[in-house]
Amino acid sequence: MSEPMDENVLSCDGLSKTFREGADAVQVLDGVTLEIPRGDRLAIVGASGSGKSTLLHLLGGLDVPSAGAVRLMGRDFSRMSDAERGRARNEALGFVYQFHHLLPEFSAVENVAMPLYIRRMDREAADERAVAMLKEVGLGHRLDHTPGELSGGERQRAAIARALVTQPTCVLADEPTGNLDRHTAEDVFDLMLSLNERLATSFIIVTHDETLARRARRTLRLEDGRLA
Ligand code: ADP
Ligand code: MG
Repeated sequence: MSEPMDENVLSCDGLSKTFREGADAVQVLDGVTLEIPRGDRLAIVGASGSGKSTLLHLLGGLDVPSAGAVRLMGRDFSRMSDAERGRARNEALGFVYQFHHLLPEFSAVENVAMPLYIRRMDREAADERAVAMLKEVGLGHRLDHTPGELSGGERQRAAIARALVTQPTCVLADEPTGNLDRHTAEDVFDLMLSLNERLATSFIIVTHDETLARRARRTLRLEDGRLA
């Protein structure tokens, strides 16, 4: 490969994003620079509308910056084809959202195994990995339950298991506890931190909950389009 090796799982520099709405332009990000080393545990806090989701979308290669670059495992997203970017994302990243996005008609095992089915992994092997991951997040007793038969906290745990089942190097979590009551939010947050330690997966957790954020290894604040 011609590009240099990079110690960082993810990095960006000079990242800017401007949304155009007719004649108006809204600059959401204004020169964000960030390095995520392997195993990092970063919380990003910021007010609603400060651009947290926009930043995560750019870091995940789900949207294109107006300026600046994002590198995943040292490779610039903008220099990959759509297919390469999709593959790089599937191999290296996991996503957790505020709403779990589990498929209602499938069991917990099937939901968690879905990213592996998409990779065309053998069904039995995929289910086996999904079961192991569900046990890892404390849902070994809920394998055959559908999302409707799980509590809010259990659904979020299942969503975390789904993000981790591909053994990504980095998980991007966008307000993953935003829908949960205080106690459940703390449990789910603690689960992510313990998985970070046990599996050496990097976590970038976006939250507006400063109390939770303080448990991360480091916290950055997004304000006026900049990260500090
Ligand atoms: P946060 O996640 O911190 O609440 P967002 O990243 O969702 O903030 O949004 C930041 C700002 O960017 C908001 O003002 C929002 O309206 C605007 N925005 C986000 N996505 C779009 C879009 N696709 N088109 C236009 N404006 C957008
Ligand atoms: Mg958001």
